[in-house]
Amino acid sequence: MQARILVVEDEPAIADTIVYALATEGFVPHWSANAQAAIEAASAPSLSGPFALAILDVGLPDQNGFDLFRRLQQVDPALPAIFLTARTSEIDRVVGLELGADDYVAKPFSPRELIARVRSVLRRIKRSQAQNVAPAAKPGAQTLFAIDDERKQIRFRGRSLDLSRYEYRLLKVLAERPGRVYSRDELMNLVWDDPAASFDRTVDAHIKQLRAKLRSVDATLDPIQTHRGLGYSLRDDH
Ligand code: CA
Repeated sequence: MQARILVVEDEPAIADTIVYALATEGFVPHWSANAQAAIEAASAPSLSGPFALAILDVGLPDQNGFDLFRRLQQVDPALPAIFLTARTSEIDRVVGLELGADDYVAKPFSPRELIARVRSVLRRIKRSQAQNVAPAAKPGAQTLFAIDDERKQIRFRGRSLDLSRYEYRLLKVLAERPGRVYSRDELMNLVWDDPAASFDRTVDAHIKQLRAKLRSVDATLDPIQTHRGLGYSLRDDH
């Protein structure tokens, strides 16, 4: 099935260019000119399934792209996003990535460059999904992680890990999207029952325990990466 792409951009000329480029490359673009229309489009059931990816302009008339992304994640937590930023300041970039955006493109950009980013994000996600589906059935496979959601167990290199509830949830979030950088706040919100009551250091402490447990299975791999000032991800280069 062709991938549906949500395009949220208030400038018609830019939106036209993006929509045309996506359609030419075989994607099915849906254009929303503001945040509200985007939320409605993402919430509406479609016969073609959910959006495969969202392209979000940061400067929208009714809400900035970052806030829109947070709202879209409430509708579809797995929706990947590429931000379009008009100001190329580092702040935009860092904020975008801290939110868990999958990529960004600074304006002005060439349609070809944007399409390349779209393809690369979709490829990455497909690969991480494929890694999650196959492994449990094949113990001893080369896959690093196998998640058994029913038993709340994760196998690492074929060995079952002895994880606490929060360690399990934390590793599951990371392992489901290898390469995706999660900020501490995001992990807190995704994993902990009562994020407000937890401390910032909670995430770090659990990451530390997870690393120790992974090391006890294989001391040569350190699959959890620290991104200074940004957060954590699981390596996707194995
Ligand atoms: Ca704009």
